[in-house]
Amino acid sequence: MSLFICPVCKQALTEYEKLYKCENGHCFDKSKFGYVNLLQSQKSSAKRHGDDRLMVRARRDFLDSGAYGFLRDELCRICEKYLPDGSVVLDAGCGEGYYSTGIKSFFAQNGKTLEVYGVDISKDALEFLCKRKCGIPCAVASLFDLPFADESADCILNIFSPDADGEFRRVLKKGGCLIKVIPREKHLFGLKAAIYDEPYLNEMPAVEIDGFSCVDTRQIGKSFLLDSNEKIQNLFKMTPYYYKTGVEDQKKINSLGYLETEAEFEIRVYFLN
Ligand SMILES: [Zn+2]
Repeated sequence: MSLFICPVCKQALTEYEKLYKCENGHCFDKSKFGYVNLLQSQKSSAKRHGDDRLMVRARRDFLDSGAYGFLRDELCRICEKYLPDGSVVLDAGCGEGYYSTGIKSFFAQNGKTLEVYGVDISKDALEFLCKRKCGIPCAVASLFDLPFADESADCILNIFSPDADGEFRRVLKKGGCLIKVIPREKHLFGLKAAIYDEPYLNEMPAVEIDGFSCVDTRQIGKSFLLDSNEKIQNLFKMTPYYYKTGVEDQKKINSLGYLETEAEFEIRVYFLN
């Protein structure tokens, strides 16, 4: 039995080789890559959702270069501290799976298991996740309508993805763990300073979330150097700035061959009351 539920009748889905099916006969084919589309709006709209292919590819190439490896390592340590062996983890907004595949392999290397599921609104991101061949079942779905039953997950990862705290409260088991990663004020400030005349600082969301207790916060950061235009472009294209930046400001990036910038994150660990 899969932990995904049917988006039509909310009953459990059983996973078969090429599809998922509920007891009421609703069927959802897997794509040729292996993910399943459980997004209810798929019939009414042909438009693609979420990060597009260019953005997803840029992010995969940037992350696979190891620049944010220190964040992934810290997340592995946090999961090791807070998650018992065999925990069910939902990566809500999993993207191409850089963090969740890393955490799952880290547990495996230590003789433990995590049952990890991924959800993202972007088909392109899930295609890249499936290509990592890490055995993470994944579904196209909205974070605001998760294809998971009430109280079915031990942990939710919410890494740079939208806050859907109401859904997280519903899906987590009592006492379940929510791990959030958010960019700190000066995250990528060097990149912004290269693009904008007046770069701004990021705003930090409040720590308090209804129904949760925050038990751990960690601030980590690192400066890194990008020594080719390709690397700079990959970083730029994976950020929201890429689509917000005008042509003139984009030209500044096209002529850069060298950039030093900082990555600054805050990791917050919560437990559901
Ligand atoms: Zn159904």
